[in-house]
Amino acid sequence: MFVTDLDDTLYREVDYVYSGYKAIGKILEEDGIMPQTDVVDFLQSSENTARGFDDLAARLWLAHPGCRFTADWMVEVYRYHMPSIAPLPDVIPTLERLKAVGITIGIITDGRSVTQRSKIKALGLGEFVAPQNIIISEEVGADKTTSAPFETLASRNIGEEKFLYIGDNPAKDFHWPNMMGWTTVELRDCQKTNIHSQDIAVADEFRPQHIIDSFGMILKYLQYC
Ligand SMILES: [Mg+2]
Repeated sequence: MFVTDLDDTLYREVDYVYSGYKAIGKILEEDGIMPQTDVVDFLQSSENTARGFDDLAARLWLAHPGCRFTADWMVEVYRYHMPSIAPLPDVIPTLERLKAVGITIGIITDGRSVTQRSKIKALGLGEFVAPQNIIISEEVGADKTTSAPFETLASRNIGEEKFLYIGDNPAKDFHWPNMMGWTTVELRDCQKTNIHSQDIAVADEFRPQHIIDSFGMILKYLQYC
């Protein structure tokens, strides 16, 4: 079985962040509060998303005392917006190939149910992955720092003998799959645009067994699926 992470494996998470900022800016512009491009520029120049929302809310509050555009409001818009994101160039052809040769495809991702499902829908992944093979941490009540998401997927596919997991984050993507005897593959962050840096020191059991530079190179490892 072929199992993949979502964020920074099937698409660039920075694109999701940008899409969320644009969604906030669109509303602020429509309400005559601030031009969308200024909102996006402001948030992108912040050191992180949470800080950006706090600083922008404080600025809007000064100009429009009592306005509804609080940091909490921005978080809500960000989490619930339908994102404008696209799969990495070779993702869809690769998934089509896997499907054509009869390999079952699963997704294991950490995050909120609504947010991750919006991404999956926007990326058009529904035609490749059966509903029971989409594992989202909020829905199973545990994230990838535990064995639960991986065991949940395995328990739903008891006929499968081999599992391969591809992800990007050595902090949590490979430890439990390694422990469970899965094949693990890291998609290298060649452009250094990932949200979570791969340049971190981790113990051997957290390291991927293989590293590839593009998603399509996973086709070299089909014997492990
Ligand atoms: Mg990821």
